Amino acid sequence: MPKLSKGAGQIYGEAAFEVLAKAQGLERKGKKILHFEIGEPDMETPDHISKAGIDAIKNKKTHYVPSIGLSDLRQAVVDEIEHTRGYRPDMEQIVITPGLKPGIFFTMLATVNPGDEVIYPDPGYPTYGSVSSFIGAKKVMVPLLEKNEFRMNPGDVLKRVTKKTKLLILNSPQNPTGSVMTKQEMDEIAEIAEENDFFIVSDEIYSKMTYDAKHYTPTLRDEAKERTVLLDGFSKYYAMTGWRLGYMVTPVGMAKRLQDFLVSAISCTASFTQYAGVEALKGDQDFISDMMNRFRKKRDCIVQGLNSIPGFSCKAPKGAFYAFANIKKTGMNASECADHLLNNAGVAALPGTAFGPYGEGYIRFSYATTIEKIDEAIENIKKSLE
Ligand code: PMP
Repeated sequence: MPKLSKGAGQIYGEAAFEVLAKAQGLERKGKKILHFEIGEPDMETPDHISKAGIDAIKNKKTHYVPSIGLSDLRQAVVDEIEHTRGYRPDMEQIVITPGLKPGIFFTMLATVNPGDEVIYPDPGYPTYGSVSSFIGAKKVMVPLLEKNEFRMNPGDVLKRVTKKTKLLILNSPQNPTGSVMTKQEMDEIAEIAEENDFFIVSDEIYSKMTYDAKHYTPTLRDEAKERTVLLDGFSKYYAMTGWRLGYMVTPVGMAKRLQDFLVSAISCTASFTQYAGVEALKGDQDFISDMMNRFRKKRDCIVQGLNSIPGFSCKAPKGAFYAFANIKKTGMNASECADHLLNNAGVAALPGTAFGPYGEGYIRFSYATTIEKIDEAIENIKKSLE
C-alpha cells in the first residue's frame, strides 16, 4: 500500500471502543461482564420521536435536503436556544449536522491552521486532541483538578493563552468527570477569548443532564455572533445516539463556510432523522426529567458504592452520567486498575488516562445501567481487591 497522509498518522480513536472490544472478547469466552465503559443512555428513543422518523420515511421524506439543514428543524433550534440559553439566534446561524462530533471536526477545520494553538480540557473528550493533532495544531491542555471539582479554572486558561491561541474548547457538563461550570467561570473565559481574539467552541451535548446545578453557555456573551460556537445535539438526553443528529449555533460568516464543508463531506444530514429531531424539540419533554430522576438515583448509588471500596473515593458529579473515581490509594495506576477491574471483577470501565495525562489516578464509570448492575459491580470490585 502507498504511504498514507501525515494527518492519517496523527488522528486517533477512543478507548471506550477498545475496552468494549476487549470486554466482548471476554464475553465470547463465556465470562460475564458488567458494562460501564460506553457513554450512551440505557433507554430507548421515546416512541413519539421514533414515530416521527418512521412517518417521515413512509411519507417519502427520503431525498436530499439542504446541506445546512431542514428549515423546520433550524427554526425549532432557534426557539430551543431562546428557551434554554436565553437569547434568540438568527436562523442563518443554525447548522444541522449528523451528530455533534462533525460539528467539532468542521469548526476546527474551519478555524485552526497548522501551528495554531488549541486549548482544551484534560481529562477531556478524546476528539478534541485527535482533531488538533490531525490539523497539526499545538495541543494546550488545561488540567481539570479534583480540588476544583474538575471544573476548568479561568486563571489556568489565561496562563496558557499566547498570540498563537486560536481556539478554546469548553465542555460542560463534562465528559469524563461530570463537572458543571459556573456562570462566573463561563463569563470569565468568554471575556478572555474576547480580549485575546480567539474562538470558543462549547460542547454542550449534556446540557439538559444536570443535578443540583444549572447549565450555562459561554455563547451568551456574544450570542454566538462573533467568536463563540455552540454545539449540542440529540444523542444523549433524547437517547438518539444512533440517529446521528446534532446542531451548531455559529457566527453567520462561519455558517456560510461550513455549508461548503458539509456539501463536500456529507451532502446533508439524513432527512427523516431531522423530522424526528423537530418532534424531539417540539414534542413532550417530560421523559427528560423522568430520565434524570432515574439517573440521579443511579448516581447516588454508584457514588456511595465507590466510596465504600477501600482505596477508591468519588465526589458526586453534578452532570452527565459519569462517575470519575480517584483510585490513587489502590497503589495501581489508571490503566492497571482498569485492567484489574475487567479481568478480576468483570467490570468494564475506562482508565482516566484515556482522556489525557491528567486522568492518571482515576477511572471513569458510565452509570447508564441498572441499580442492580451497579450494586453487583461494587460487590465484585470489593471482592477482587480483598
Ligand atoms: N461530545 C462529548 C463530550 C461526548 O461525550 C460525546 C459522546 N460520547 C460527543 C460529543 C459525541 O456526540 P455525538 O454522538 O452526537 O456525535
